[in-house]
Amino acid sequence: MASEDDVSLLVIVVDVNPIWWGQQAQREPEFTLSKCLDAVMVVGNSHMAMTRTNKLAVIASHCQDSHFLFPSKSWRAGDSGGDDASSSGDGKYELLSVANNLIAEEIRNVMSKTEVRGNSTDTLLAGSLAKALCYIHRVSKELDVAQEMKSRILVIKAAEDCALQYMNFMNVIFAAQKQNILIDACVLDSDSGLLQQACDITGGLYLKIPQKIALAQYLLWVFLPDLEQRSQLVLPPPAHVDYRAACFCHRNLIEIGYVCSVCLSIFCNFSPICTTCETAFKIQLPQMVKPKKKKLKQPT
Ligand SMILES: [Zn+2]
Ligand SMILES: [Zn+2]
Repeated sequence: MASEDDVSLLVIVVDVNPIWWGQQAQREPEFTLSKCLDAVMVVGNSHMAMTRTNKLAVIASHCQDSHFLFPSKSWRAGDSGGDDASSSGDGKYELLSVANNLIAEEIRNVMSKTEVRGNSTDTLLAGSLAKALCYIHRVSKELDVAQEMKSRILVIKAAEDCALQYMNFMNVIFAAQKQNILIDACVLDSDSGLLQQACDITGGLYLKIPQKIALAQYLLWVFLPDLEQRSQLVLPPPAHVDYRAACFCHRNLIEIGYVCSVCLSIFCNFSPICTTCETAFKIQLPQMVKPKKKKLKQPT
């Protein structure tokens, strides 16, 4: 039975891939990363304002890193969050202004300090989701005995999928499924097969929004209601799930392929050694007749 003290934790994972957002600012100057974060704050504030026991976390998913925007290391529950937040005096719920200030401050740190090294420009989404799962686990350990917690992860996805993360991603999805954690996905740009599978497996909602500029509206209407409330709503129809896997060799989506029996890597071509885990397969080859060793001729 649901009691008043039950905790509902919403973890929002925002794709802050600087390359994608840089291109996006040129394509559509009216929808930038800061507009996206405004929308994240709106939905975060709404979630926290609904019930006293609702909790929020926001994670920024960068190219090689993921960072907690909220709660951040510099803030602990009970802190006033600095003078600027508490002295605003506009009657705003203090927790909300503290959260918003922290998110704004942390994202500034992340975007200015983190540089894109090497040639890996993919968003580290699987890592961020794993971090979200760890955080959910930690919060669930800190609950009172009588409290129960419902958790969900909302991914706001911008850049393309990265087939290299396919395995890590699938592991995260199944871990979430085991823990009864819902994964929702709000996709800004091209469809994500990985997130379609994540939402389908965990029972979350997948939506590619038709207009990026209306992100805050979609977040509030579609993603803010929790699982119980959703059953009362008429939500966008479920997306077609692309269950094809990407081959690890060329990142092509394939329907039939070769699977390594050790690490479950998928390949479109047969190779006697798995390029992921370097297992050498013992294959039954047609028996070859060994040629008899020729005796070296002894010099006479
Ligand atoms: Zn291939
Ligand atoms: Zn392998």
